[in-house]
Order: sequence, then structure tokens, then C-alpha cells
Amino acid sequence: MTIAENILCVRERIVAAARRSGRNPGEITLMAVSKTFPPVSIREAYAAGLRVFGENRVQEFAGKAEALRDLPDAQWHLIGHLQSNKAAKAAELFGAVDSVDSVRLAERLNAAAQSAGKTLAVLIEINVGGEEAKSGVAPASDELEQILLDAPKWTNLAIRGLMTVPPYSDDPESARPYFRQLREIRDSLANRRLPAVCINVLSMGMSHDFEVAIEEGSTCVRVGTAIFGEREKA
Ligand SMILES: *Cc1c(COP(=O)(O)O)cnc(C)c1O
Repeated sequence: MTIAENILCVRERIVAAARRSGRNPGEITLMAVSKTFPPVSIREAYAAGLRVFGENRVQEFAGKAEALRDLPDAQWHLIGHLQSNKAAKAAELFGAVDSVDSVRLAERLNAAAQSAGKTLAVLIEINVGGEEAKSGVAPASDELEQILLDAPKWTNLAIRGLMTVPPYSDDPESARPYFRQLREIRDSLANRRLPAVCINVLSMGMSHDFEVAIEEGSTCVRVGTAIFGEREKA
């Protein structure tokens, strides 16, 4: 199957999952996760109509960005863990950082975005499974609370929502409670009407579980393997 055919197939599954949960498929963004794949594959996905791309490493994308400069309406999201010392490079290369998980990182990104003269869209990454090895801020933690309270200070960040990667399982159903939990966190934050915090986006669901994520309210599914094929193991 070509990348274009894979995208068609993923789109159909998105529409079906949205319909059966009474949702409008138009409110769900398909993000192509292009990590490890070369610019030529990204161009194929672009030609098939995709505009939102996710990369998980600053360094890797730095090496590809030059070859993709002529795709002006493509949106580049950083979805992998970001160390504060790479904030400046990230702010330069990406339009959005979907993996903000500390006050310190948000501060660095805001300063970097200010220097670059841009506003960065950001999502707060939540570690719903409480996994030691995973990044993301713990639900109901002081750190999350502080990010939300400090938001008005970060004039060059636009906080748009939440992102999560639940504990891995071959059975997509086992991710459902985590997806539901992220939606509940989003709803309770939205009810608080915090200044400078506009939590609408729920970025959740990957190749093996995006349909369950859509049933639980996802507004952005991050799909790599089902579009580009298996990645080489590093
Ligand atoms: C790699 C990655 C994805 C895509 O995973 P697939 O299983 O290949 O669809 C989604 N989100 C994040 C944060 C990733 O690192």
C-alpha cells in the first residue's frame, strides 16, 4: 500500500469511529507522525492532503526542515520529550510543542518564542498511567496547577489543550480508561475558566488505538505506523 492509500484507509476509520460515537469527523485532526521517515515520505503525505506533522526529536527534524521549507502551510508539531536546553532550537523549528510538562520548560519556550518573534501553540502532556519512564506531568499535581496558574505570564505561548500517551498494550480497549481520564481532566479544567488557558484540544490515540481515542473524545490522533509503515528499530 502507498502512503496515500494508507491515509485514505485511516481517514475512513476516523470517520467510522466518529459516526458511531455521534461525533463530527471534521473536528478530528489527523496528524502524520513522520519521525524516522525522510522528507520524501512527508511530501507524499502532504500531497495526499495532510498538513499537520508530528516529530519527536528536535535534532532529527533540524536535519529535515531545510528540505521541507517549500511546504508553507504544513504545521510542524514537536510531540516528543523536550529538554529545556533545546527549547530555543525547538521554538525556531516548530509551530507547536505538544509535550510541555513543566513550568521550567514552559518558561524556556516562552522566552525562546519571544526571541523568535512568534507565538507557539502548546499542549500540556499528562502522564495518565503514572509510568516512571514516561514524560508528562502527573494529573492533579502541583506542577500541573502551577503551569495553569502561570499561563498568563507566558505571552508567547498559547495553551490549547492536553496530550497523552497511555501505557502500551496490544489491546486498544485497555487504553480507554486513560483516554476517558484525559477528557475528564480537560472538562474540569475548562469549567474553571482559567485566564490564558484555552483547553480544547485532546491529542490522544496512535496507530493501534486511535478509534478508541476518538470514541472517548480525541480531537487529534497522532498516526505514524498506519500511514508510513513500520519504523526501523533504533
Ligand atoms: C511515535 C509516536 C506516535 C505514533 O505512533 P504509531 O504507533 O506509529 O502511530 C504518536 N505519538 C507519539 C508521542 C509518538 O512518539
